[in-house]
Amino acid sequence: MADIVERLIEVLGPGAVQSEDDISPDYTHDEGLRSEATFPLAVVRPATTAQVSEVLRLADGQRVPVVARGRGTGLSGGAVPVAGGLLVSFDRMTAILEIDLENSVATVQAGVTLEQLDQALAPVGLIYPVSPGESSASLGGNVSTNAGGMRAIRHGVTRHHVLGLEAVLAGGQVVRTGGKFVKSSSGLDLTQLIVGSEGTLALVTEVTVKLQPRLGHSATVLAPYPTLATVTAAVPRIMSSGVAPLILEYLDELTMTAITRSAGLALSIPDEVRDGAQAYLVVVLESTRADRLDEDVAGLAGLLGDLGALDVFVLPPAAGSALIAAREQAFYVSRSAGADDIVDAVVPRAAVPDYLAAVGDLAVEAGALIAGCGHVGDGNVHISIFQPDPEVRSRLLHAIMRTAHGMGGAVSGEHGIGTAKRAYFEELEDPAKLALMRRIKAAFDPHGILGPGRMLSDEAR
Ligand SMILES: Cc1cc2nc3c(=O)[nH]c(=O)nc-3n(C[C@H](O)[C@H](O)[C@H](O)COP(=O)(O)OP(=O)(O)OC[C@H]3O[C@@H](n4cnc5c(N)ncnc54)[C@H](O)[C@@H]3O)c2cc1C
Repeated sequence: MADIVERLIEVLGPGAVQSEDDISPDYTHDEGLRSEATFPLAVVRPATTAQVSEVLRLADGQRVPVVARGRGTGLSGGAVPVAGGLLVSFDRMTAILEIDLENSVATVQAGVTLEQLDQALAPVGLIYPVSPGESSASLGGNVSTNAGGMRAIRHGVTRHHVLGLEAVLAGGQVVRTGGKFVKSSSGLDLTQLIVGSEGTLALVTEVTVKLQPRLGHSATVLAPYPTLATVTAAVPRIMSSGVAPLILEYLDELTMTAITRSAGLALSIPDEVRDGAQAYLVVVLESTRADRLDEDVAGLAGLLGDLGALDVFVLPPAAGSALIAAREQAFYVSRSAGADDIVDAVVPRAAVPDYLAAVGDLAVEAGALIAGCGHVGDGNVHISIFQPDPEVRSRLLHAIMRTAHGMGGAVSGEHGIGTAKRAYFEELEDPAKLALMRRIKAAFDPHGILGPGRMLSDEAR
């Protein structure tokens, strides 16, 4: 094993390999609430695709496990190293290779963060619209988890924007999939197979994404509702009204109070309205023209009122941005409040009222406190679970996932399976589909070195 570290130092240079006491604790975990910090044999920080290829050739030859890491903001344990394995960090692969204005695409190295890409796109009036709540996340990590976020309701998730990839297979072979074109009927779609594969099929080194025009006018509308059920029941009506929100989020009263308090944000909601509110809808609309936006906002405000809102507030621009920023911090607020786990199961949009009612009943039975917010328009709500007893919590999580699955949903809407949700995934997913996934995995990675124990257990493979 020491041999491989020496070889890696020869290939990448001493500054790009950390081993033993040199390993920074930052590399030992992701942001998952139940992730356990683990030190790998070595952290490897390649700067080029050729170096990634050489790392994988060496690792495959010696059957050393490899875990990929973008920026470690994942919530499912996917980027936590394996003891005795290599952690390949993409934090030195941060070049924006091309912004092609004619084709509205960008090609970046996998370690480029959402924030870096946004800073490069703003001056040319373009945007990469996928916005998972943590802008320090990398494009490679987004691709690997098929990240979603608040704007998925309008723009879709990562896979809807990825046109092509460069990826390195387990033995070191470099493949290019897709390209700058928006359609193809030419063989199996390997791009889409790698998107969402959580580092278990290949390591992504370059990503080509579609870009959109950056619209100049937006408005944030806040509507308090008397019950959670009225909020969730309103959502399908908003979606079918033609309003086309950029963001459509719900927050329960507990979460709204916690995030606004944490951000020091006063929204000037009269006490009598706040006292009667059990849940909130936050809707962001966007347009090319101010007059069209005003028209849409007026239509939306009328609709929200008809759907039972206690009041409707069109927030001043600064307050609107501050509320969205505070919502993005909901995970950290929940973690500091002592949340023991977080569920990101997804159900069909119209099933959200029944799903949340069932989750509420299950939480009461388990003696757990829950708080929720999230992408209600996508049927993907995030529920923080406060129940310190691991056995009780595990039973509750199983019951919640079973409920979501039974309603036609899935275990994870956007955070990925990783190690944290593997047991639920393997229990609930169709065995024929799991077996097919294992065969695909074996075709990409015959020796099983990539992302061991992520998504599927090693035994199951
Ligand atoms: C506050 C907060 C809010 C969040 N909100 C959202 C949200 O709204 N929506 C959402 O979808 N997610 C959200 N997330 C989760 C997280 O930001 C995303 O999962 C993101 O895609 C992870 O990117 P990363 O670069 O940090 O990846 P990492 O955490 O480093 O890795 C994630 C997975 O991808 C694999 N991987 C990383 N890079 C590569 C690569 N180059 N090649 C192959 N595999 C790779 C890793 O092995 C791991 O399995 C949130 C996280 C936080 C902390």
